[in-house]
Amino acid sequence: MTRIVIVGASLAGLNAAQALREAGYSGSITLVGDEPHAPYDRPPLSKQFLIPGTERESLALADTALLGLTEEYGRRAVHLDVRNRAVHLDSGRVLEFDQLVIATGVGARQWPEPVPRQGVHTLRTLDDAYGIKQDLNSGVRRVLVVGDGFIGSEATSTARSLGHEVTLAGKGRAPLNRAIGDDAAGFVSRLHREAGVTVLPGVRVTALHGSQRVTGATVNDDRLVPADVVLLALGDQPHTAWLADSGLKIDRGLVTDVHARTLDTNGEPLPHIVAAGDVTRFPHPHASGLVTLGHWSNAVEQARVAAATLLRPDAPPVYRPVASFWTTQYGVKFRAVGLPDQADRTEVHEFDLARRRLDVAYYRNDQLIGALTANRAARIVAYRSQLAEALSLLGIQPARMSIASVR
Ligand SMILES: Cc1cc2nc3c(=O)[nH]c(=O)nc-3n(C[C@H](O)[C@H](O)[C@H](O)COP(=O)(O)OP(=O)(O)OC[C@H]3O[C@@H](n4cnc5c(N)ncnc54)[C@H](O)[C@@H]3O)c2cc1C
Repeated sequence: MTRIVIVGASLAGLNAAQALREAGYSGSITLVGDEPHAPYDRPPLSKQFLIPGTERESLALADTALLGLTEEYGRRAVHLDVRNRAVHLDSGRVLEFDQLVIATGVGARQWPEPVPRQGVHTLRTLDDAYGIKQDLNSGVRRVLVVGDGFIGSEATSTARSLGHEVTLAGKGRAPLNRAIGDDAAGFVSRLHREAGVTVLPGVRVTALHGSQRVTGATVNDDRLVPADVVLLALGDQPHTAWLADSGLKIDRGLVTDVHARTLDTNGEPLPHIVAAGDVTRFPHPHASGLVTLGHWSNAVEQARVAAATLLRPDAPPVYRPVASFWTTQYGVKFRAVGLPDQADRTEVHEFDLARRRLDVAYYRNDQLIGALTANRAARIVAYRSQLAEALSLLGIQPARMSIASVR
């Protein structure tokens, strides 16, 4: 019987297992994760899950009990032996495999020095979210969010909706500007300010204060921002340390080809070791170099391609997705397709803050490569079709998932 091991028990790992079973694979599947939980959904962690009364059930993903898996939670993979096809766990156990799926995602970047014992958080896991939730709902007033990416911006919106005084400090010209460009980021920035958030763009937080509990932070070496809670949303680091001596190609993430196969250090694909989700970096025709798509739909779609590649190594499917993601802030649901962060030019077709409507198209070398809208569902579907058409003209069948199916 074939043995498949999946390392990383989250969205990509679970979807790989589901896809294998749906395709009729009846061999053994062992799902290993270092968190003490079965797979759960992360996007609510910076949004509704922080609001009192929202329970763990709201994070439910597919029920693993229906998939016939051997589940190993609270166990970390510490070494991959490619030659002997074995994953070594921190318990000392060795899992032999015929085929392997790597879906170890990313972790929150940490503050480089020791931090006060209470009140300082990062946000990546359910346990992180429990800690923040407890702090936000225990009467604190002043919240400082350090980092103006998606998680920082979303958590700011949630903390503000809970009535806290919130300061959002980030290096960019406006929250999210590196991901969605200056125009759309200007829209997000105005939502924050309209809601009463103090937005500090273009700054660097240089020190955290407090010994037992945090009392504040210094910004740009000279300005003190008092705070009872600090959320460090400093970006991600791929979980690849356990692969350091494996011989797999790593370049700010685990490098895969367009079939989700990992590569050896000579760039040769390993057909029995695939990878999916946030941990990966792979080629895409709308980008220069490799891309990481740290979004929900990528974890789902790439995992399904990875599973198909294992089952059909002689005719592996091609993964060239029309990327898609969403973010919800102040009740406004932004939907994006393509690769807005790769654009060299944008066109703003609508910017109506009062009606919460936004429509921005992103171009690279005068070719449409992405779009972002708010409250314009039909337009995002049209943009998606255009992007899918452009990819199919390149002779590539884009991964099949409609924007409507992504929430
Ligand atoms: C707070 C938050 C909000 C988000 N909101 C959105 C959103 O609104 N829209 C959107 O599109 N996306 C959003 N995302 C991103 C989305 O959740 C991720 O893209 C998705 O979770 C990626 O899934 P993954 O399985 O690749 O990785 P992960 O979910 O990171 O899972 C990887 C798992 O592997 C485990 N692991 C790591 N190393 C090892 C090891 N050595 N051994 C065993 N296990 C290991 C990790 O602990 C983790 O459980 C959000 C993410 C976060 C954190």
